[in-house]
Amino acid sequence: MKMVTHLFTDAGRTWRQAAKVNSRGSLIYKALMEEMNGPLGGIMAAQIQRNAQYIKDVPADIARQMTEHIMSQSMQGLRHTDIAKNLQQLFPHMTDVKANLIARTETAKTATALTQSRCELHGIPWYRWRTSEDSRVRDSHRIMDKVLVAWDDPPSPEELSKEKDVGHYHAGCIWNCRCYAEPLIDLDFIQWPCQVYLNGSLRKMSRKQFEHLMPIRNVG
Ligand SMILES: [Zn+2]
Repeated sequence: MKMVTHLFTDAGRTWRQAAKVNSRGSLIYKALMEEMNGPLGGIMAAQIQRNAQYIKDVPADIARQMTEHIMSQSMQGLRHTDIAKNLQQLFPHMTDVKANLIARTETAKTATALTQSRCELHGIPWYRWRTSEDSRVRDSHRIMDKVLVAWDDPPSPEELSKEKDVGHYHAGCIWNCRCYAEPLIDLDFIQWPCQVYLNGSLRKMSRKQFEHLMPIRNVG
């Protein structure tokens, strides 16, 4: 179990990337499924239910079916391009663009849901927002790179960058977002001072200021 948790944060943002590094894909998948049979599975199921509410243009039960399908496929390590193809087999009337958008978005949301569920289980209240750090990162997410965010207080990156507000959400949880959440398990891993999202704005904080903010249980 420790290995899986570790791999997700260090070696790759998805288990597929991690498996590539480790060439022990089936072992990792087995461990992940065992993890899902424990309390993590229930937390994760609730997250996925919530995600399904955001797919607005299909009936609720279809949306749930879709998110569950994508969750299970992305956990098996399928790429979002392959997931999109499988999605179209299930829902033949879906256009390529739509299938790709949903597969890509829901795969990223599944990754964040898994991270968030683990953090909830292990009492880790903060994460670091990470972007792909390339030219395709949207401006509103560029300003979020390496910002510390509390799981119970998702930001509105658009509002922060003075764009049209599209709601509050976590890293990876909006259409076509390739960002991901990196659990904050040790303050030594952070370069201080660091940007922190707090009370609806970004502020630079020293380690001392941040430590005052909330006691962090050191699980690393
Ligand atoms: Zn993003």
